[in-house]
Amino acid sequence: MDLQFITSTNVIYINIDSQQFLSEAKYIFQFFFTVLGIKKIQIVSQVESLSGIIVYYGREHRSASRGKFIIHIADADYYKKYDSPQVSSGIKCTKSMQNLPINLKYIFSKKLAGLKDVWYKEEKNKSSLVTSSENAIHCNIDIVSSSFYLLNLENERLCDGRDNLDRFQKSHAKMGNAVYENPIVDQLLLLFDAFLKRAHGSVNHTHLYSIWPQNCTFALALSHDVDRLRTWTYSKAKRVLKESGGNKEFDRLLKKSVEVFYSISLKNNWSGNFAYITQLEKRYRANSTFFFASKRRSLQDPKYKLGWKRIRSGFGKIIQNNSQIGLHGTFLSFKNGDFLNEEKTILEKSINTNIKGFRQHYLRFDIQGTFDAIAHARFKYDSTLGFSDDLGYRCGTSLPYFPFNPREKNAYSFLEIPLILMDTVLFLESKLNLSSVKAWEFVEKHLKLAHESGFCLTINWHNNNINTADVFGYAKLYEKILEWAFEKNAWICSLDDLYDWWIQKIELLRMEEN
Ligand SMILES: [Zn+2]
Repeated sequence: MDLQFITSTNVIYINIDSQQFLSEAKYIFQFFFTVLGIKKIQIVSQVESLSGIIVYYGREHRSASRGKFIIHIADADYYKKYDSPQVSSGIKCTKSMQNLPINLKYIFSKKLAGLKDVWYKEEKNKSSLVTSSENAIHCNIDIVSSSFYLLNLENERLCDGRDNLDRFQKSHAKMGNAVYENPIVDQLLLLFDAFLKRAHGSVNHTHLYSIWPQNCTFALALSHDVDRLRTWTYSKAKRVLKESGGNKEFDRLLKKSVEVFYSISLKNNWSGNFAYITQLEKRYRANSTFFFASKRRSLQDPKYKLGWKRIRSGFGKIIQNNSQIGLHGTFLSFKNGDFLNEEKTILEKSINTNIKGFRQHYLRFDIQGTFDAIAHARFKYDSTLGFSDDLGYRCGTSLPYFPFNPREKNAYSFLEIPLILMDTVLFLESKLNLSSVKAWEFVEKHLKLAHESGFCLTINWHNNNINTADVFGYAKLYEKILEWAFEKNAWICSLDDLYDWWIQKIELLRMEEN
């Protein structure tokens, strides 16, 4: 895989005022620079004697002087405000610069003196939020603490609201669920990237590094939770019949019934569709991660056993396609590190390989408990953090990141790969209840967001909702996603490959720094 960096000889200096928010601010800058693939950054405690690009995150005024370019990001005093924040309704961009988000949202801001050139204006009171001059940028939006708030999942730390399975959902957020509609952190990151480009004064800056392998335009990361091998359930048959026209059109209903019975007779239907999925993904040069449960601790857990012949042959198909296997944690294991450890060992023995990835069944997640359990079981990455009742950006980002551990004031050592879109969210009656045609509008919005930012979209499509012989519309929808991404030159990858790429990039950056 090829990886390129900015070849700038200049070090970018970062100066952080706040001592109380120091670890958090460092953590965010590290995340930003990792994503952008920028080497040569240095955190400094004073800037007077330095020249070059200085990112100053603070409250006092620092004026630019000869040989210095100051990017001043306002520090909004996070710990004073973080328990009752609001999300802005969105400010408009007044500049036509490539990659600048047109409508930007944020959580924290602080007033700084404005400069001549206006980048972002508030619609209501016309005040300027981002401005620049020849050798300085003033950013009233606190992009650091706004990003930290979202990556650190403060909305769920600050509220006790949970659904009947103990899960945080969008609607529980005190600041309202609009905050999850767009990847706000990704957009603030694009703004920061634009600051750096402006400071470098060179358009070359954009072209010297690549976020994804082979210069792909964005990443589409694929995964499949394996909850059952058999495709049909009573409620699913009902749903499929309904999608074909409902009671009014008896002929179509009859035709569909015949199809359902035909599909039940197919072998793929009883063997998890693994051959079908890997064949399909191969056509788009794609691979994916399949999450399997390895034990049955409660009634809610999958019923299959790893020793079954159909499962063994499925493992073979998956590995043949260079796809990977991860653990689907059981219903009761979401805060229990020992349970997870045991389940991981069982699965590893069964496939004779170490596994990297994890996703919890039903996306059950406890803010401190699940992170600790994942760390305890030494997973390399988790991909549980999405919503089970809607699409959206639960972590504020589409990108992989190391979650922050507030107790240690440090990052965990596993990556979180946020889950943005899950198939069942689109069509279950209890969720969005959309027809496959209507669902495309929702899916396309997020594909476009990933394509425009050049970042990522992670999806989970259950293995029992993917065969055109069973669920024609929804299976076609999955194919349409692959096709759309393939045509736009996306990197269509498994979560394991995404993990490997990200870690390789971080290690190279580290090497370059030393
Ligand atoms: Zn599941």
